[in-house]
Amino acid sequence: MNKDLSRYKDPEKRRLWLNDWKRNHRRNNPDVRKAEKERLNKRRNDNKWKAIQYLGGRCSSGKSGCNNIIATKENMAIFDFHHIENKEVGVATLFSRTWKKILKEIKKCVLECSNCHRLER
Ligand SMILES: [Zn+2]
Repeated sequence: MNKDLSRYKDPEKRRLWLNDWKRNHRRNNPDVRKAEKERLNKRRNDNKWKAIQYLGGRCSSGKSGCNNIIATKENMAIFDFHHIENKEVGVATLFSRTWKKILKEIKKCVLECSNCHRLER
């Protein structure tokens, strides 16, 4: 890192320098990367759980004989969001975004277990 202090005066330079610093910090610290990944995973999971609850918390189809299986924190991985109208973004990629954006998209979905979802297509 150079010692040119002018970088502190120019906001643009300062921003670039800070970005650089953050990138190196991450690169040199596996723990930081791990913590970031965990934070993101937790957020995705929390959002998915919230979305599942918003859509009734159970499979809405039952086509596969799942008996409209009820979602729990343990089995939430088997739940899919089936779009019933104009799909813009896959919900899976949405969960790292804000709740507002997620809500906009899941309003066009029904909740289904993956077995029923497969029969739907
Ligand atoms: Zn089902």
